[in-house]
Amino acid sequence: MSCCRRPWIASQILLNEELSTETERVIVSKLGKMKAFGLDALMIWSDRPESSQRVVQICRERGVSPYLWYPVLADAPVKFETLPFEVVKILEQGESQILDSQRSGGEEFEFLCPNKVRATGDFLKRFEETLETADFSGIFLDRIRFPSPANGLADILTCFCETCTRESKNVTEKFRYEIQGLLNSLAVSDGKDKAMAAISNMIEAASEFLSFRKASVVELVSEYSSLARNRDLDVGIDLFTPALSDFVSQDYSALASHVDWIKPMVYCKTMGPAGLPMELLSLGKIIQRINGKLSEEEILWILEELTCLSLPKSFKSLIDEGIDMKNFGLELVRAISRTKDSKTRIFAGFEAVDFPPICTVDSVDIRRYLELSREMDLGGIVLSWDIRRIPDENIEAVGDFFER
Ligand SMILES: [Zn+2]
Repeated sequence: MSCCRRPWIASQILLNEELSTETERVIVSKLGKMKAFGLDALMIWSDRPESSQRVVQICRERGVSPYLWYPVLADAPVKFETLPFEVVKILEQGESQILDSQRSGGEEFEFLCPNKVRATGDFLKRFEETLETADFSGIFLDRIRFPSPANGLADILTCFCETCTRESKNVTEKFRYEIQGLLNSLAVSDGKDKAMAAISNMIEAASEFLSFRKASVVELVSEYSSLARNRDLDVGIDLFTPALSDFVSQDYSALASHVDWIKPMVYCKTMGPAGLPMELLSLGKIIQRINGKLSEEEILWILEELTCLSLPKSFKSLIDEGIDMKNFGLELVRAISRTKDSKTRIFAGFEAVDFPPICTVDSVDIRRYLELSREMDLGGIVLSWDIRRIPDENIEAVGDFFER
């Protein structure tokens, strides 16, 4: 058995502020502790070239490979107005669940249309310039998707811009006229079975629209990936966990042929975008707002049917406890199965941070994640998502695990 083989281990850092002496001290300390158990790579997100250059240097001095962690369709570090490139909505209503504490760290989650972004060369040019600011070993593309349930209903029903209408040959327009009827049918459904049937109808009616959105994301990723591969850089991507990837139009199988590895974000405890508790709660609240007669338990049953996940019975326990970590293993199996026809590797992404109120995981959670990853015999793990916020106890738990 391969139980003693250590996987490739990476972590991440999000550093939009100035690199102070204290921050540098923390980075050096955390990197040193992680290097002791074999940290291989660090993904660096920063809109300040001087900060990322210094972190790249710190990594290189310690034998850790620095990757450019680059957000593509939201929070892209471009120097021009991005408003004209935002996705086009058709509904007014929509309540974002994203916490202010996450926005204050420089993450706005305002999404751009992949087709409008691709139509101009300016975003790709900016990516190329960023790539040239430091000696990176690879790239790690993030936010390659449409808005998620956390952004609210109006945002997930996008994009209806002119570019999308033209490129989809009117598929987006056709779906646009069906939406209100589909929502009305969910609104008047009695009981969970009829509501589930209405949602299934909605998904079926959206089929061509969703295929177009998925293809749009794949096209965009292929351009960024080609640019990096022409420079012999390793290419990884951050994807929503398989249970939720359809909601944001990420096609594991089609994306796999353009990248070297995929990190599914299987975050069982995170109340932030991409975190399963946050996204499921947001979906639950969207359904509840459309049909106020459904109970929380009925809505959670619908979500279980939609996602094939094992979920708690109330919104409160979803908020307080997150979801059962056995879902982590199940999601990795699905990710592996969706990419089995490619050479792309699946690297398990799990939260290792103490970042209240968004996420708090302890060393017991870390051990469980590691045990489940080992059962899958994965080639890599990514301790997400900010090395500065990973407590020393969690780092020690990783070290202990691989020394056993
Ligand atoms: Zn568009």
